[in-house]
Amino acid sequence: MSQGQGTAGAHATGTGVRIDGLGKTFAMGRRSVVALEDATLSTARGTFLSLLGPSGCGKSTILRILAGLETPTVGTALVEGRTPLELRRDHRLGIAFQDSALLPWRSVRANIRLPFEVSGEKPDEALVSELVRLVGLEGFEDAKPGQLSGGMRQRVSIARSLVVQPSVLLLDEPFGALDDMTRQRLNVELLRIWTEKPATTLMVTHGISEAIFLSDLVAVMSPRPGRISEVIEVDLPRPRLPEMMRTPEFHALHDRASELLFGTVGGH
Ligand code: ADP
Ligand code: MG
Repeated sequence: MSQGQGTAGAHATGTGVRIDGLGKTFAMGRRSVVALEDATLSTARGTFLSLLGPSGCGKSTILRILAGLETPTVGTALVEGRTPLELRRDHRLGIAFQDSALLPWRSVRANIRLPFEVSGEKPDEALVSELVRLVGLEGFEDAKPGQLSGGMRQRVSIARSLVVQPSVLLLDEPFGALDDMTRQRLNVELLRIWTEKPATTLMVTHGISEAIFLSDLVAVMSPRPGRISEVIEVDLPRPRLPEMMRTPEFHALHDRASELLFGTVGGH
């Protein structure tokens, strides 16, 4: 099976994410906002792709189009050969957003189990238990979201996105609201989980380091109008370890992304 780990062929095949001339204009009363213009991208199945850019450059718009939550003004979007609607109908799409969007009156287990109820399937309780373990929440199964830390709530959210055994995973700044230390730790955990259960992944982020650390491909975007400036191939070997963030290869990729984002090397 092809994992498409950011190899040269990854762009060409398009059996993972494939967007073509994608554009979105929002009407705002008599004005209109071009959120996204002429975005074209393709990845191989199983590729981890990040959209990296400042706020307002259309990252979430691309993700929301792929998730079928928004329709494009122009262009087409396919994931693993399916339209966003087909993707949702198949119930193999996992989504997690910046705010964990958990139901406050439900326990950890009941939140993770929710997608089964939405799709009308019988909950796979063994899988729910496995995911609780995988995200390190054993002992908190019966806790309510209000009794958990922000980082723990995001883990519940990640577990819930994985419970459908997604072939496609869409993550919109899943750890964006957390402090840097928690965020780094959860990124390492996300990577471990993703390695165990690889999926065609699109993650939205404004963090350069996390984009490079996790991804096979990083699409750097610029705002007003939202465009894709360049796609960086991350050829760092897997498995990836946090120590790799201190290598010259990592720094070179970081500098390249900074340059595209800020026009200079450095930034943050
Ligand atoms: P990002 O995720 O990169 O921060 P978004 O995709 O959320 O950017 O938004 C891109 C642009 O589109 C922004 O200027 C934003 O204000 C605008 N936008 C997004 N959603 C809407 C909407 N529902 N109505 C009007 N404008 C929107
Ligand atoms: Mg966003």
